[in-house]
Amino acid sequence: MRCSQTAQQLQLYIDNQLPMGKMHSLEVHLATCEECRRELAVLEEITSALNTTQPVMEPANLTMHIMQRVALDVQQREREKVAREVYIPLRPSLMELLAVIVLATVTTLGIILGQPSLRVNLPFTSGNSQISHLLVTASQFFASVNSGTLTLAFWVLGTILGISITLALAGNEMRDEWFRAISHKLPVW
Ligand SMILES: [Zn+2]
Repeated sequence: MRCSQTAQQLQLYIDNQLPMGKMHSLEVHLATCEECRRELAVLEEITSALNTTQPVMEPANLTMHIMQRVALDVQQREREKVAREVYIPLRPSLMELLAVIVLATVTTLGIILGQPSLRVNLPFTSGNSQISHLLVTASQFFASVNSGTLTLAFWVLGTILGISITLALAGNEMRDEWFRAISHKLPVW
């Protein structure tokens, strides 16, 4: 047996994994070879050191800590979910938002068109485009229909009430959107 063959078998020999025949020839070689005996001694030392190494102990309350973190995480997510669900009914959809903006804008324009003093401030009533002509006609229609002071007052009061109810029912976000839309529509805000 040669030393190169021995090197492969030494660890198996230490682990008692070597077949009897090979074990015998190895022992014969070891009895005569100083080099391989030293190699065996080193390997035995390493093996014994590895066997006596204590596994790293996990903290006794590791599982409890993990479960606490998980529970806290779940609670946190539950709280966030509840917060979102509370907030959702106040969040209008795009269509609701558009409906409110259109409604509020139309009623506001209605008030302005019903009052000649405010009407002259609108930029489009002095233009010549088809839209401005249509709006002037509409304003004249409003003015002729609501000619009586009492009717006009009723109209304005009803519109203001309508806007107030709409805005009271709308969320903060919707109110902001409405004010922004109105302030863009009116040059004298
Ligand atoms: Zn040898």
